[in-house]
Amino acid sequence: MCIFCKIAKKEEKAYVVYENERAMAFLDINPLSKGHTLVIPKEHYENILQVPSDIAKDLHEAIKAVCEKLKVFNPDGFNIVSNIGRQAGQVIMHAHIHVIPRYKDEEGKPISFGKPIKVDLEEVYKALV
Ligand code: AMP
Ligand code: ZN
Repeated sequence: MCIFCKIAKKEEKAYVVYENERAMAFLDINPLSKGHTLVIPKEHYENILQVPSDIAKDLHEAIKAVCEKLKVFNPDGFNIVSNIGRQAGQVIMHAHIHVIPRYKDEEGKPISFGKPIKVDLEEVYKALV
């Protein structure tokens, strides 16, 4: 069983700050900012693309509730991010969404986004529609 499944079943310790029927939120053990929280489905799915839409609704409720709770730290913004696949930096293969409160005294840049690349938008667009 994966580590986040164990946390969901309360078999592994975590600082759980919110839960509803199918989602749970707990503090990230290596926080990128004060209050960095992870929101997970209690059931195991490898990433958020695998999560059925009705369960995603509970994840969304959890994200909103967590952001509301984090207001106690007076954040000035949030990054809400989900890494999908190892190339994107996913390390724990149980779907999770990072909720990262951001504060004025930080640099104020997006989390881990690289520089824009040169690409033919016309060609990309045609491949997608
Ligand atoms: P990702 O790179 O998107 O897979 O992120 C995994 C996140 O899970 C990292 O930010 C870790 O710090 C965090 N993490 C790993 N193990 C635990 C744990 N036992 N409790 C809380 N957070 C964890
Ligand atoms: Zn799992």
